Amino acid sequence: MTVRRVAIVGGGPGGLYAARLLRLADPGMEVVVHEQGLPETTFGFGVALGARTQRNLEAADPDTLRDILAASHPHDMSMQVGDRVARVPGGRMVAIARTELLTVLTRHAEKAGVDVRHGERVAADDLDADLVVIADGVSSAARTAHADAFGARVDVGRGLYLWAGAEFALDEALFAPATTQHGTFVAHAYPYAPDRSTFLVEVDESAWRRAGFDRTTELTEPDASDDAALAYLSDAFADRLRGHQLIGNRTRWSRFRTVTCERWSYGNQVLLGDAAHTAHYSVGSGTKLAMEDAIALCEALAGEPDRGTALARYQAERKPEVERMQDLARRSHRWWDSFPERAHLPVDQLTVAYMTRAGNVSLDRFAASTPEVARAGLADYAGLPPGEVALEAPVGWVATRPLGKFLGRIVTREAFAAEAVVEVTDIPADPWGAEADELVERLTRDGRPVWLTGGSARSELLTCLDLAERLRLGHVPLVVTEGAAGLLPDLAAGLAAARTDLIALGPPGPAAGQPMTPTS
Ligand SMILES: Cc1cc2nc3c(=O)[nH]c(=O)nc-3n(C[C@H](O)[C@H](O)[C@H](O)COP(=O)(O)OP(=O)(O)OC[C@H]3O[C@@H](n4cnc5c(N)ncnc54)[C@H](O)[C@@H]3O)c2cc1C
Repeated sequence: MTVRRVAIVGGGPGGLYAARLLRLADPGMEVVVHEQGLPETTFGFGVALGARTQRNLEAADPDTLRDILAASHPHDMSMQVGDRVARVPGGRMVAIARTELLTVLTRHAEKAGVDVRHGERVAADDLDADLVVIADGVSSAARTAHADAFGARVDVGRGLYLWAGAEFALDEALFAPATTQHGTFVAHAYPYAPDRSTFLVEVDESAWRRAGFDRTTELTEPDASDDAALAYLSDAFADRLRGHQLIGNRTRWSRFRTVTCERWSYGNQVLLGDAAHTAHYSVGSGTKLAMEDAIALCEALAGEPDRGTALARYQAERKPEVERMQDLARRSHRWWDSFPERAHLPVDQLTVAYMTRAGNVSLDRFAASTPEVARAGLADYAGLPPGEVALEAPVGWVATRPLGKFLGRIVTREAFAAEAVVEVTDIPADPWGAEADELVERLTRDGRPVWLTGGSARSELLTCLDLAERLRLGHVPLVVTEGAAGLLPDLAAGLAAARTDLIALGPPGPAAGQPMTPTS
């Protein structure tokens, strides 16, 4: 069937952008956006958009991008531990107030002839249209109504986060831990307007309970902010806030929900944005993915003769890309959940660990883009002055550093013939799950060196390195990680990031070097 009338549930970035692109592609199409909220009453502070996203938006609709950029604020990034700082250029990273982004998108949707109806909460099943786009966000009632048909699944994270703001612009984005008597809180913060910054703060559950936030959360009304938490965190991050207080906007502690769906359409309904999938905020990709879904959906509808074929093409094009981003986000999420355990690393080495945490940025790429921090981080790793780091070939340099009696970090089994080594080949799929907890506890108690060998796939090696790091943090005396020889760059990044002590090379296997998925 040809699509003539489209109803969109949800006027977030995904729904509004899809609406405009549909009208631009086919000015004869009737497009209505139903948004339950009133203009400029949205929750949240700023959202970030990277260079690659900007290129995609430019290609799809340069007018909208121009206005988004005009309302955005560029920033670089820094890791800040105590008074030690490592700075990383942000590329063309910008952030924009969510309210501002929605204002721009609404204006452009209306300019293209979209009927945007604010203050209308609707049920997707009640809408009479050729196509109903479900863009109602992470808590999507429409997805939940047909959860089985969509094969929907929602996984709830362990740690807690809250999204607050401050009334001044930071000089740059920062990642910074603050340790109180209750535990370590970590801020991800970035400026998004000349007088505003987003402060997203996360913490593990035990510190959250020790600070009494289980009680303050319970006492916070649904539409209110957790003022006790904001006051506590304003104190904890006083040095980063430069005399300002954190401000809330329906700000309360939550656990991140990762949404996945096996099927993205059902009858005349199609999922888009957070309703279809979420990826942990630490890869800053929720808005990006929603807007890129909108581009792909419109291209599929414009390029295919009927609705069924178009929806099948949309899913076939977008789902693998989204899954790659979710895989990266899952690793990043775990890395941040366990951040306090590695906050003792020197700040430059910690930045190397941060950049390579999910397998997305290689040592080569980081050394080329941020030589100063890479040099200092690798010097920390090797215990040498920065001037002695061979930055032009970091992988080989890292792998050939000595460690105790080992002349280099690449070892063979023969080197261990005389020693008792525990071999682990059955690596738990979730390196932070219950099975892995048990394994880590057993191996830590055992106290012998451990040799880990995962499968030959790249994702299996990255999982192996996650487990290796847990063992090192648990003070296992020596951890060797074996991976396919073609994955030497990942193994070397694991060494530099203090995830494994030594590495071993198996059969060639897959080649490394290609990023798993773009960062932005
Ligand atoms: C703490 C945090 C930090 C984040 N930081 C970033 C970041 O730095 N960069 C980034 O890109 N993304 C970030 N995100 C994610 C980003 O906010 C979302 O991924 C993005 O807004 C998704 O867009 P969407 O259009 O799919 O859904 P949403 O933006 O959630 O919009 C859904 C809309 O649907 C409306 N709605 C819901 N139900 C109905 C109904 N029945 N009828 C009518 N309307 C309805 C809602 O009012 C809402 O306006 C962050 C998210 C969180 C939680």
